[in-house]
Amino acid sequence: MIKYLLIQNEVIDIMKSFFALCDRDLVLRKDNSFLSREDLDVLRKCCKTTEDFEEKSSDIEVIGLTKEAVLPEEYQWVPIRKMFATLGSEDCFSLARAKALLEWRKNTRYCGRCGAELKEHETLTARYCPECDNLIFPRIEPCIIVVVHKEDGKILLARHVQRNQNIYACIAGFMEAGESAERTVEREIFEETGIKVKNVKYFGSQSWPFPSQLMLGFTAEYESGELKLQADEISDADWFDKDNCPASPQPGSIAYRLIHET
Ligand SMILES: [Zn+2]
Repeated sequence: MIKYLLIQNEVIDIMKSFFALCDRDLVLRKDNSFLSREDLDVLRKCCKTTEDFEEKSSDIEVIGLTKEAVLPEEYQWVPIRKMFATLGSEDCFSLARAKALLEWRKNTRYCGRCGAELKEHETLTARYCPECDNLIFPRIEPCIIVVVHKEDGKILLARHVQRNQNIYACIAGFMEAGESAERTVEREIFEETGIKVKNVKYFGSQSWPFPSQLMLGFTAEYESGELKLQADEISDADWFDKDNCPASPQPGSIAYRLIHET
């Protein structure tokens, strides 16, 4: 009987993923392998944790660490973005889920309707308000990201004022209330570059939990207009040959796939 339980435990452990995260980084062992249950216990003992939770439906167990955490010698910090470039889709999902839930838990402590402290829901991945029954699920913020193609094969890339200032990237932006994703695509491109597009087509999506975006990828075709940049958002934009792009996004992001696979 005991052996059976041990085997069961072992099986569960093999399927389960263990994460220790802080901001945009996660902890791996020095040999680049993922953490085990034992590793998580080691980190719990030697570092201060900000969150500590598991989600049975996605088989993840997660601790949040602080920036001040000093890791034992056998562990290292690795950027989560870098991991997205190398992991298979199941591991990507587990890591994105762990990061998204950690951020959500950190930022969702009080009821937005009445201000009372939220409680953990017993069966759902959700929090509820004991005063007014408000039920709050993990929040996702949809964004569009789009590559615009011209008839001559060139694509439109832009350098942003606020983020990733040293690279040219796809046009991207948050969806606004009431918009369809296609409408957001048309609006963002026109606002930022003065270009009108046609044939907006869905390409694919990627969870981007920094902290809670869902990136919806699109392609579009140039219709009309001259480049006229929105100065507070875009420092430069131009049409580039795909094979001769300036520094552009790294593998592991949907931006990279849009540029190189469409
Ligand atoms: Zn409430």
